[in-house]
Amino acid sequence: EHFEPVDLNQCVHRALILCGNRLNHLEAEVVLELDTDLPNTRGNAQKLEQVLVNLIVNAADAMEELTGRVRPRLVFRTSFDPMHTELTVTDNGVGIPPEKLPDIWNPFFTSKDVGKGTGLGLSISQGIIEDHKGTITAENAAKGGTRFTIRLPKAVPDS
Ligand code: ADP
Ligand code: MG
Repeated sequence: EHFEPVDLNQCVHRALILCGNRLNHLEAEVVLELDTDLPNTRGNAQKLEQVLVNLIVNAADAMEELTGRVRPRLVFRTSFDPMHTELTVTDNGVGIPPEKLPDIWNPFFTSKDVGKGTGLGLSISQGIIEDHKGTITAENAAKGGTRFTIRLPKAVPDS
């Protein structure tokens, strides 16, 4: 594996550039709550950006299903503790039925129409995060919508 110190905040910015058109089209409000003191993560920046792109595209799909009324809103937050960095991505889309939450990680699980989703994005993303010795979890956000939380090892743990 090719792991090096990675700035997760920069991964967020780069993934947003890659997904910009999709979010612009939705007129989504993008909120960045990025910790300016965030320490580096041990990882592969391109792989982590790929995970973020997957999460953003899923969020865009879920927010597109909201019909008008609510403005799409996507919040990115980074934080850290002595051993880990953490990134949460929270959307205000249609959410995931609680009974489906365990299934979303399965390869080929999709709720989307044929041709719109392969059901591979989250399975691949989970594999990438596990390669990093991290964790990725999903939950329903308090105000509706979905929150994904990624925890990753810091490049240099506090001593
Ligand atoms: P795909 O996007 O091709 O369907 P994924 O593995 O990326 O496959 O996601 C699997 C399923 O998890 C989606 O079809 C959808 O049902 C659900 N899902 C993932 N992210 C979200 C989200 N942010 N909001 C609502 N549902 C989601
Ligand atoms: Mg997807």
